Amino acid sequence: MISESNEFSEVEQTFFVEVVLPVPIPQYFTYRLSREMSQLAKVGSRVVVEFGKSRVLTAVIVKIHNTPPPKYQAKYVQELLDIEPVVTASQLWLFEWVAEYYMCHVGEVMNIALPAGLKISSQSRIQYNPDFAHPELLSEQETQLMEVLLKEESLSYDEVGRFLDQKDINKTIKELVAKHAIILFEEVKDKYRPKIVKKIRLKRVFEGTEEILALIEKLEKTTKQQEVLLEYLGHVPINELHYKNKEGLAKSTLKAGDISESSLKTLLDKGIFEEFEIVVSRFDGEDLGSQAQMQLSEPQQKASDQIMDSFTQNEVVLFHGITGSGKTEIYIDLIQKVLDSGSQVLFLLPEIALTTQIVNRLRVVFGDAMGVYHSKFSDNERVEVWKGVLDGKFQFVVGVRSAIFLPFTNLGLIIVDEEHESSYKQFDPAPRYHARDVAIMLALKVRSKVLLGSATPSIESFYQAKNKKYGLVSLNVRYGDAQLPDIRLVDMKKERKDKTLVKEFSSELLAEMAQNLANKQQTIIFLNRRGYAPYLNCQECNWIGHCDQCAVSLTYHLAEKTLVCHYCGHKESVPKTCPDCGSTKVKAMGVGTEKIEEDLYEIFPEAKILRMDLDTTRSKNAYQNIIGEFEKGEVDVLVGTQMVSKGLDFDHVSLVGIYNADKMIHFPDFRAAERAFQLITQVSGRAGRRDQKGRVLIQTGSPQNRILQFVLQNDYVGFYESEVIDREGYNYPPFSRIIEITVKDVDQTLAHQAAARLAQALENQLGKTRVMGPEKALVERIRNKYLFEVWLKLEKDKMNIQATKAFLQKEIVNLITEKKFKSVQVVVNVDAV
Ligand code: ADP
Ligand code: ZN
Ligand code: ZN
Repeated sequence: MISESNEFSEVEQTFFVEVVLPVPIPQYFTYRLSREMSQLAKVGSRVVVEFGKSRVLTAVIVKIHNTPPPKYQAKYVQELLDIEPVVTASQLWLFEWVAEYYMCHVGEVMNIALPAGLKISSQSRIQYNPDFAHPELLSEQETQLMEVLLKEESLSYDEVGRFLDQKDINKTIKELVAKHAIILFEEVKDKYRPKIVKKIRLKRVFEGTEEILALIEKLEKTTKQQEVLLEYLGHVPINELHYKNKEGLAKSTLKAGDISESSLKTLLDKGIFEEFEIVVSRFDGEDLGSQAQMQLSEPQQKASDQIMDSFTQNEVVLFHGITGSGKTEIYIDLIQKVLDSGSQVLFLLPEIALTTQIVNRLRVVFGDAMGVYHSKFSDNERVEVWKGVLDGKFQFVVGVRSAIFLPFTNLGLIIVDEEHESSYKQFDPAPRYHARDVAIMLALKVRSKVLLGSATPSIESFYQAKNKKYGLVSLNVRYGDAQLPDIRLVDMKKERKDKTLVKEFSSELLAEMAQNLANKQQTIIFLNRRGYAPYLNCQECNWIGHCDQCAVSLTYHLAEKTLVCHYCGHKESVPKTCPDCGSTKVKAMGVGTEKIEEDLYEIFPEAKILRMDLDTTRSKNAYQNIIGEFEKGEVDVLVGTQMVSKGLDFDHVSLVGIYNADKMIHFPDFRAAERAFQLITQVSGRAGRRDQKGRVLIQTGSPQNRILQFVLQNDYVGFYESEVIDREGYNYPPFSRIIEITVKDVDQTLAHQAAARLAQALENQLGKTRVMGPEKALVERIRNKYLFEVWLKLEKDKMNIQATKAFLQKEIVNLITEKKFKSVQVVVNVDAV
């Protein structure tokens, strides 16, 4: 009887948790808590659970309850990782919102949001089988995978999936195992490891002045031991400050002082010194000493006041401040105010701008109280920022787009600098979110304010401001009466006719560059294309080097002596003769940054030239180094891609040359005009500061072009007004919302059929005008898959977006569950940019 009633009460006390797992499955999962865990578990804490047959994953608790799942036996939670939650309630809300809005799964959002260091998981990995003897059994794709495996030590399932661009890789893996080509193994990934420093200190009994003197005397005969002690005292002045001994000294510091290690060991053995360990932050010791804010100029102070004032009526304020107006100082003023009021601040920057001057400047003002969240940081560093936000160490964080997912509890202000930057939108993998838009949603939820800043606001944001949905504050003068640059267009058609071009440089630009070199002033040359040449071309038979897997030409990279596909990363060596006709007349055609650098060396042999693009900035500090050298003034010319337009402020750049504006303005995309205007204006903004008026030369074949005319006049508002009319005419954003649906398959016909069927279903429901396509994607084949696009253009005011998305989701499921379309992949991108 008694045991029965006991069992009964135990059943009553059973608790379950709903958890979100970092997997792309659209649901929460139920697990059972042990009795001890039931006491301690909280929503937002992490647990370790078994998922599937052999995977172990970290999950986050979203709900605790006592209803057993109706259809199956819930497994026990294996481990409870946190006593205090590491994910807040508003974050859980945000994850769900992002998943719903961007049409993906909560697990995918959590996967992006949580730094890997907070997730432990066992992962299935594959590795090349050293006994593999039958390469002839492999398909072409399998051979490629094996080649990658030879180079990498091993690959995770996810990496294999990404490489093959396949939904279900199990079949491929099974076949490779059957052919004895690969070996499977499980790896438990490490979680966050705190940074530990080994230290030593004197035993407490020796802390007093007299005791120390006695000790020194005692060691008189063992000179080497005495040296160790004196070295220690040299670093830790415990004569004056006894408590300093408690903090001790890093062993590594002591050892750096040329002491005898065996003597140190003896002292430790004798019990004169003791060893201990402490956990330190990876960010300590960066304090540059906080420095007073700069005095705001009158126009800056006015702008700052207007922003504060606007916040009393608006949740979101757009700050349109021209290049060089000193937006950073205004941000600092606002951040300080919000921090003083006791709230947290998040400052978002585009990826690349984050490694530069602006962060250094903020560090000077805010010191260690500021956390930096960057994708080039290690996971451990990211975990420290995450925890620092939770425990109040960081009230202020500067970060890239994923910083929007940090566990703030009391946000007062989110600043989105360079809000027009398309790199705020994540393209791959899901969630395909836009950090600016997520910031606004989050702010509305937690009652924070949002400041969007830019010299060239996105058409969407300016439209909202014009229509009074956002506040608008403009600052139209540069700091310190610095003047805007003098912009000129160079008519390339005329120069070509007059035969005044040297390579593809106009005589005008070369003359200005020569003058700059003579005056020891710096020049920036901008071209939006990296590599040496965009393609190789046979002069005899017109062969062009293409990627086998993608419908694009291969870019020629001179330094690496390779042809590279910028879409799939495929590399091959440069053929000496034409693969089709054997001719030796194979020429590099077109121009990339690498070629410009080479051309300029020829034209100006004396000049010191640096290049800044993706290829020269891959390593962790490369970017910083290039900027550092340029800042020091040791470099005459900086050649670069759009990287040179972001967040940089140089004192001695008086000339900016835009090598070719035409590709930008004629690009087939409804945002091309906006992008071109923004890019050219931003790059031009690097020219001239303070007392020096800069010059900008833009090489173009279409000097009459509308966009360039607005650039000439520095007329953002004029550009906006002309652009917004076009957008309205074609019902593009901001008048509509665009959902881009990409349908992929290795079989071109099948991909087209699937896309057409989906488009038809959507048309039937939404009407012809709201559905565009299917059309071949701009690059119609990537990694051997054919791409077709269908676009939904949904009016903002008339459409029930939620219902439309639900309908779309249903149609996609209908499509891919049909046997014929089993292999087809569908990718949805809400608010594609
Ligand atoms: P923006 O980001 O608006 O293009 P920056 O913030 O880079 O402009 O400022 C341009 C230059 O003016 C920088 O060198 C900056 O240090 C300087 N500056 C801006 N405001 C002040 C100020 N109030 N006092 C001193 N220097 C300033
Ligand atoms: Zn040929
Ligand atoms: Zn390719």
